[in-house]
Amino acid sequence: MAQRPYYAPRSLDIDITTHCNLRCSYCSHFSSDGDVDKDLPLEEWNRFFKECNSIGIMNICLCGGEPFYRKDIRQIIESLVENKMRFSALSNGTLIDDDLAEFIKKTARCSSIQVSIDGSDAESHDKFRGKGSFEKALNGLENLLCHKVPATSRVTLSKYNYRHLPETAKLLLENLKLSNFSTNSVSYFGLCYGRAAGAFAYRTLIISRSRAVGY
Ligand code: SF4
Repeated sequence: MAQRPYYAPRSLDIDITTHCNLRCSYCSHFSSDGDVDKDLPLEEWNRFFKECNSIGIMNICLCGGEPFYRKDIRQIIESLVENKMRFSALSNGTLIDDDLAEFIKKTARCSSIQVSIDGSDAESHDKFRGKGSFEKALNGLENLLCHKVPATSRVTLSKYNYRHLPETAKLLLENLKLSNFSTNSVSYFGLCYGRAAGAFAYRTLIISRSRAVGY
């Protein structure tokens, strides 16, 4: 009997850390049963990436927590690259300085970095993510763009900021010249659950520059 072919996924999303430098009001990582104190050490990830390479996985998406909060994130990325994979990351952007953006660019294996931006100004963004985080996130995004790292953005919508979406789209698409950004689908979860902060349903949107004309 012929053996059935074995198919590996093309891409994997991994929570490289459960830790983060922020405490966003809607975060699900600090209020769920899946929250753990200890991250897997670098050696374990090295072994895992070797296995990924051996079965043909081509891209790893680094999620968290905040992936760039890990002190050994550069070694982790180097391990991915040594194992012939590309990578992307979901980030709050606040820890991406010029040096890190340059490092990411030099790997020549980055598919994209997604930076969370929740509004067009500090008032709307910092309400959820904490004082000072808008400026740092914007700096992070600009550092990536400055080094020509493929970057995109995610806007986490809630009842407090969905009316500001046109201004946010203007910031991301016109001022920063991103080709697109996306939003979440809104539901009750995370730290906001007990405070009923996000009580409405909303479709996930992907908004591109061409579509945003006349938005
Ligand atoms: S940046 Fe992400 S992981 Fe960190 S607190 Fe905010 S939502 Fe949670």
